[in-house]
Amino acid sequence: MKILNVTCPNCKKEFNYYSSEFRPFCNERCRLIDLGQWLNETYTVPVHKLTLEEAEALEQIIHEKDKNPGEEDDSTN
Ligand SMILES: [Zn+2]
Repeated sequence: MKILNVTCPNCKKEFNYYSSEFRPFCNERCRLIDLGQWLNETYTVPVHKLTLEEAEALEQIIHEKDKNPGEEDDSTN
């Protein structure tokens, strides 16, 4: 396995680029958070379609950010 340490654009954590499925982010959460910020910035992307799972995860993250950014809630379902 190749190793390339990069910094996650979202959380600034170092990780191995090749070990993440969600590169350039360290994990799915960072990728979705970044996507959420991106969507909030009125860059409208007419053709981009989220999968249902992505849309749900994104919605969850946006809701979490709205209420309490310090609190994790895993029991939404
Ligand atoms: Zn990250």
